[in-house]
Amino acid sequence: MATQTATPSEMLRSIDAATGEPFGEPFTTHGASDVDAACAAAAAAFDDYRSRPLEDRAAFLDRIGDEIMAIGDPLIEAAMRESGLPRARLEGERGRTVGQLKLFAQVVRDGNFLGLRIDSALPDRQPLPRPDLRLRKVPLGPVAVFGASNFPLAFSTAGGDTASALAAGCPVVVKGHGAHPRTGTLVAEAIARAVQACNMPAGVFNHLLGPGNQVGSALVQDPRIAAVGFTGSRGGGMALVKLAQARPVPIPVYAEMSSINPVLLMPHALATRGAALGTAFVGSLTMGAGQFCTNPGLLLAIEGEGLDAFLDAARAALADAPASTMLTPGIHAAYTKGVEDLSSHQHVETIGRGAVGSGTCGQAGLFATTAEAFLSDEALGHEIFGASSLLVRCRDEAELIRVLQNAEGQLTATIQMDGGDTDMAQRLLPVLELKAGRVLVNGWPTGVEVAHAMVHGGPFPSTSDGRTTSVGSLAIDRYLRPVSYQNLPAELLPAELRDGATLPRMVDGKSA
Ligand code: NAP
Repeated sequence: MATQTATPSEMLRSIDAATGEPFGEPFTTHGASDVDAACAAAAAAFDDYRSRPLEDRAAFLDRIGDEIMAIGDPLIEAAMRESGLPRARLEGERGRTVGQLKLFAQVVRDGNFLGLRIDSALPDRQPLPRPDLRLRKVPLGPVAVFGASNFPLAFSTAGGDTASALAAGCPVVVKGHGAHPRTGTLVAEAIARAVQACNMPAGVFNHLLGPGNQVGSALVQDPRIAAVGFTGSRGGGMALVKLAQARPVPIPVYAEMSSINPVLLMPHALATRGAALGTAFVGSLTMGAGQFCTNPGLLLAIEGEGLDAFLDAARAALADAPASTMLTPGIHAAYTKGVEDLSSHQHVETIGRGAVGSGTCGQAGLFATTAEAFLSDEALGHEIFGASSLLVRCRDEAELIRVLQNAEGQLTATIQMDGGDTDMAQRLLPVLELKAGRVLVNGWPTGVEVAHAMVHGGPFPSTSDGRTTSVGSLAIDRYLRPVSYQNLPAELLPAELRDGATLPRMVDGKSA
C-alpha cells in the first residue's frame, strides 16, 4: 500500500448518497510522491509476481475472493451508504465480484490464456529451412485501474479490470473512485491480507485515493505503468486516452465509456405483445435508477400496430416507478440537466415520467422523436446516464437502418422479435454486429453475464478499443502481449514451451 503523505486539508469524506451528508472517519488523499511510490512498488513486484507458478497466482485470486467475503456485512453497509444502492443489489454484486476472481483463477489454472504455439523446425525445407518457433503471451507490466461509480464492487477496487490484470501476471495500481472511498478501502485491505497470506510481493497491489485530474493523471503518465483499465464518463476516458497517447512511450487505455444500447421493437413483436414489451422495458430502464452502462437509452420502432399499446403500457409502468437515489449529487445533477435538455427539445415529446423524487432521487422518463429529427441532431444520440430513454419513430425499415448506421458504437444492440420478424432481423444483423459488442434477442441489455463468451465492449465511444471486453475471461487478453522465441535451446525456453510440457498448446497448427 502507498504511504499517505497528504496534508489534512486533502482529506476525503464518504458521502451518504441519500442525504448528501459526509459520514465516518475521513480518508487521507494521496499526492505525487504516493503515486511515485505505488508505481515503484508495482514495478519492483512485476518480475517476481509474473514468474510465480500459475497455481500460486490462481490461489492468490481465490484468496482475494475469500478475504472480500470475510469482511462480511460492514462491506455491504459501506457500499449501501456510499452508493445509495440497495442491499440485495450489492450482495449480488459482491457475489459477482468474487465469482469473477474465481473465474480468472480457473483461467490461470487452465493455461489457455498463454496462447502457447509451437511451429517445429523444418531443417530440410526447400528453398529455405524453417526455424523452431515457440510463442507464449507475457504480461504487459503494472496496470492502472480506475474504479467505476456505478459498480462499487464489481467494476472497482477488486473488479473485473483488477482481476483480469492480476490473472495476466500484472501488478495493479487502483485509483479508487471518490464516491466510495470506504468501500474501496475495505476491499483494498482485504487484498492486502491476501497478498500477505499468499506470500505475494508487496507491490502487486496498490490503492490510491485522490482527485482524478491529479492522482489519476500522474498515474497514467508514470513511465512504469504499461496499460490502463477504466470505466466511467466519455470525458474522463478520453482525457486518459489522450494522456496515454502523449507519453514518450504511449500505452493502451481500455476505457469503457458511453453507450445508449438501442432496442429494436420489431413489427410482429409489437403487434402481438406490444403492451407486455412496454411493461418489461420499463423494468429494465429503471433498474438501479438506470445507472447501468447497458441501460436501454434508445428505442427504435417502425410506426404501426402495437406501438401505441407499447407506449401506453410503458407510460403506466413509469407512473408506478418510484424515484430512486442516484449514486452521487454530481451524477444526479448531470441526469437532471440531460433530461431537461431532452424534454425541452423542439422535436421531442414526453411519453411518460416516473414519480418525482426529492434530494438526489432521479425521475425516470421516456421520450420520443422522429427519425428525421434524430438524424439531424447528434446530441439526441448522447448518453444520459440514468433512467431516461428516447424512442425514435421510423417510417419504414430503410429509415430504421439509416438511424442505426448513424448511431455511435454501442455495448449492446437488442432485437425484440417474433417469428414473423425473422427476415427483417436477418437483414439488420450485419448492421448491428458492426455497431455493437453484444447482440441479443428477446431480452433486455441490463444484466451482463460473467462468462467465457461474453463481450462487454464495442466500437467507439462505447469503448476506446472495440477489439476487447471488460467482462468475461477474454478480458485477460488486454494485459498480455505475444512473444515468439526462435531457435532457443531447451534450457533457455520458458518451461511451458519445452517439449513434453503439459499445458494446452497448438503444435504445427493443431491443438495438442
Ligand atoms: P468519471 O467522472 O469519468 O470518473 C471515473 C474515474 O475517472 C474517477 O476516479 C475520476 O476521478 C477519474 N477521472 C475522471 N476524469 C479524469 C481526468 N480528466 N483525468 C484523470 N482521471 C479522471 O465517471 P463517474 O464519476 O463514474 O460518473 C460520471 C459520469 O460517467 C456519469 O454521469 C455517466 O455519464 C458516466 N458513467 C458511465 C458509465 C458507463 O459504464 N458507461 C459508468 C459510470 C459512469 P475523480 O475521483 O476525480 O472523479
